[in-house]
Amino acid sequence: MKVLYPYWLLALGLGLWGWSGCHKAPARPAAPPVPAAATNFPASQVDPSLPPNESLFQGARAFRDLERQVEMGPRSVGSPGAEQLRLWLQRELHGLGYKTGAQVFTAQTPLGPKKMFNILAWAPLASPAIQANTIILSTHHDTKYFTDFTFVGANDGASGVALLLELARVFKERPLTKHNLLFAFWDGEEALQEWSAEDSLYGSRHFVESLDTPQTPFKLTTKQIVAVINMDMVGDRHLQVTYDTLSHPQLLEMLFTKGRDLRFEKNFKRAELGNIADDHLPFLQRSIPAINLIGFNQTGAGSYPPYWHTAEDTLDKVSATSLQIAGSTVDLLVRDLDRILE
Ligand SMILES: [Zn+2]
Repeated sequence: MKVLYPYWLLALGLGLWGWSGCHKAPARPAAPPVPAAATNFPASQVDPSLPPNESLFQGARAFRDLERQVEMGPRSVGSPGAEQLRLWLQRELHGLGYKTGAQVFTAQTPLGPKKMFNILAWAPLASPAIQANTIILSTHHDTKYFTDFTFVGANDGASGVALLLELARVFKERPLTKHNLLFAFWDGEEALQEWSAEDSLYGSRHFVESLDTPQTPFKLTTKQIVAVINMDMVGDRHLQVTYDTLSHPQLLEMLFTKGRDLRFEKNFKRAELGNIADDHLPFLQRSIPAINLIGFNQTGAGSYPPYWHTAEDTLDKVSATSLQIAGSTVDLLVRDLDRILE
């Protein structure tokens, strides 16, 4: 993903969305003090002092899926690691009982035509309502292509996939009641050379372009998609979710309210502004409400993690606790959306 606009354009972006600059969240009672974090537990386990909630999301299980991807090595477009990932993901999703498929396409890239694949898993309602609408949960599965070092993308790549796969387990165990769910793992989010409108977001752009055509997976139409929640870089040990001003404002506000209601105030600070081009953009350009859940403001000064797109994006930068925070928040937000949205 990429920071799209200079900071001074923020105000303009907010205006475009009809988002009032004086918006203020409703007052809510102060949360009870959170006990000091336990210091001696492995990153692969969820911090036992984390405020509990009713989500079935298991951060430790998601972390194992993250480790597994890192073991596969680089998963850039067309790499052996990407093929290994595709087989593994499809097996896992199929094993959960989802209707699973790959949307295969050839993208024109600065490095020539490249075969890419979006992995999709479809969770229709158990008793399908004739007009049931769909919520899409998505992430990118590719890692950025580098020739001068080995890039395993523990946070940028593996964390989103781990989160989404665990969410697929959670919604299998406790399905939605009003909406179909589509789990989408996009290929080619990363630029193969230099980020541009043409060299980025290949998978999500292809999916959106295929909507309302005979090639649309699961015969989805634009009108049926009521919300898209994209997840990317959600595993950082010091997760600070970005208040992404490109995202659909009401939906983003619901995400932050949910995170804070669950007492993850440290991770969901509205002051952590950013505007990040990512796989939610093609949906927004189709006027489909979409948000990006991303931790890209680690320092609190609008900058991104120093290990981003370097050989240092490794297992020591991520934690099961952050996956737990992001995953349980998305789980419970989606259940709210299932109740509220038509
Ligand atoms: Zn990236």
